[in-house]
Parts: sequence; structure tokens; C-alpha cells
Amino acid sequence: MNDLRDLYAEVVMDHNRRPRNFKKIDGADRTADGFNPLCGDQISLFLNLGDDDSIKDIGYVAVGCAISKAAASMMSEAVKGQSVADAQRVVTEFRHMLTHRDGEEPNYEIMGDLEILEGVANYPTRIKCATLPLHTLASAIDSGSEKTVSTE
Ligand code: ZN
Repeated sequence: MNDLRDLYAEVVMDHNRRPRNFKKIDGADRTADGFNPLCGDQISLFLNLGDDDSIKDIGYVAVGCAISKAAASMMSEAVKGQSVADAQRVVTEFRHMLTHRDGEEPNYEIMGDLEILEGVANYPTRIKCATLPLHTLASAIDSGSEKTVSTE
């Protein structure tokens, strides 16, 4: 148990010290802003999409608590280079992991480091910190209706 907590703290701190893909993308294909008033977390997200509807590049600028910033960094790694449909699956599985709504095991494999945030489910006031970047990603993906998203 202590080992798990140490690992959790270490990974969260690492993403805060060296946030991945922390950048603004000028002229991005898609953008969205997210705000969590409960904690004051803010994020601006930028996406560039490839012709095959993959996430060619992702960047974000975030201010807020350690959990929200770590979640943004972990998310950016998990979805960069993935198809838009797979990125949406990451969002769905992550929310599933934090709510355990239907009692089924979430798909940990596609979440990368985001998996480490499962313990946040025990702190209901922090769940919105962790889900903010993923909600913002979903909203950025939805923001352009001119592109048709494949549902396979
Ligand atoms: Zn927060």
C-alpha cells in the first residue's frame, strides 16, 4: 500500500516537474478551454489532426493543482499519435475508472500513466481535477463539426 502511494506521488510529481507536450500550438485545428471552479484549475488545449483523423500533435497550457496538471501531461502522452476514436475511448475509460459506474473493469491498457490516478476516485472533491483535461480533450474533438469522426 505504501509502495503504491509512493509510486503515485513519484509519477504525479514527475509529470509536474517535466510536463509533457506543455505548449501552445498556434493555428491549431482544434482548441478548447476547460475550467474547474471547485479548485481553480484551468487548461487550454490545442490539437492538430492528420488527414487520417489521427492526433498528429497535442499541446496544452495549464494552471492549477498537481493532479490536474499531471492528468493533462499523462493524457497528452496517452493520446498523441492515436486516432480520434481511440482518444475518445481513453476519455471514456478514464471516467469509467474514476466512477466505477457499471462495476466493470476499465481498460487500463490504453490509458498509459493515467492509470496511476485511479486512487483519486477515493477523493470525490479531486475527481474533477483529474477529469478536467479529458473533458477538455473531448470538447476539442467535438468542436469541429466539418470533420466526420469515424465510429468504426
Ligand atoms: Zn485541482
